[in-house]
Amino acid sequence: MRETPRSIHAHTAAIEDPGVSILVYHRFGHAVTDAMTVRTSTFRWQLSYLREHRYAIIPLDTLTSYLLGHGPPPPPRSVVITADDGHQSVFTEMLPIVREYHVPVTLFVYPSAISNAPYAMTWDELDALHRTGLFDIQSHTYWHPNFKTEKRRLSPVAYRAFATMQLVKSRTVLKDKLGVEADLIAWPFGIYDDELIRIARDAGYIAGCTLDRRIVTRREHIMALPRFLVTDSASGRNFTSMLPEENR
Ligand SMILES: [Zn+2]
Repeated sequence: MRETPRSIHAHTAAIEDPGVSILVYHRFGHAVTDAMTVRTSTFRWQLSYLREHRYAIIPLDTLTSYLLGHGPPPPPRSVVITADDGHQSVFTEMLPIVREYHVPVTLFVYPSAISNAPYAMTWDELDALHRTGLFDIQSHTYWHPNFKTEKRRLSPVAYRAFATMQLVKSRTVLKDKLGVEADLIAWPFGIYDDELIRIARDAGYIAGCTLDRRIVTRREHIMALPRFLVTDSASGRNFTSMLPEENR
């Protein structure tokens, strides 16, 4: 296939700086019941906006493979959709819209809640999401601890053992229950540091996500990729300000 000068230029720009936005959602509903709930009408508006303005919605592992030097650069103006915590409404409200728009999503779940906490999905529901081929299931630790609190509370040795358990057990259970190889971590509450990154790498993680609200460029640390927290106020300028610029 012959490349036009224009596409060569776009390709080069992408190598320089992919400028990818990672969005993070939590819960969905018909009404806003709390700060983390995005109305389905708002989510639909956001996906329509991305489609109309020809943003590319790419899987998170397309971005991480590129950043790790294993894959091609994402197209200019790419956006990644993630959702943390494994809330029921991901299955009941988000799934139908994701199917309709046919976009890839990465879910970060903490296995201790699945089929256990009343607000969480069941393993069967998670498995059904996974089998759509649209949802990648990844790790949000085993029970979503606050690592800052635990570090203060525990001795250095006990803390290291605790953090290792949180990171390893999450992968083990996801493998057992869903047969997935989780190698991406979303840091609970966006809390991470050099020690946690070392422990995560030893546990088999190759990339991680935070809540640092920036567009991802090649300058970011692969174990701490920033994400924009999406709330229901994210429409109009509040939403478009999270996206890569038109001619980046
Ligand atoms: Zn979380």
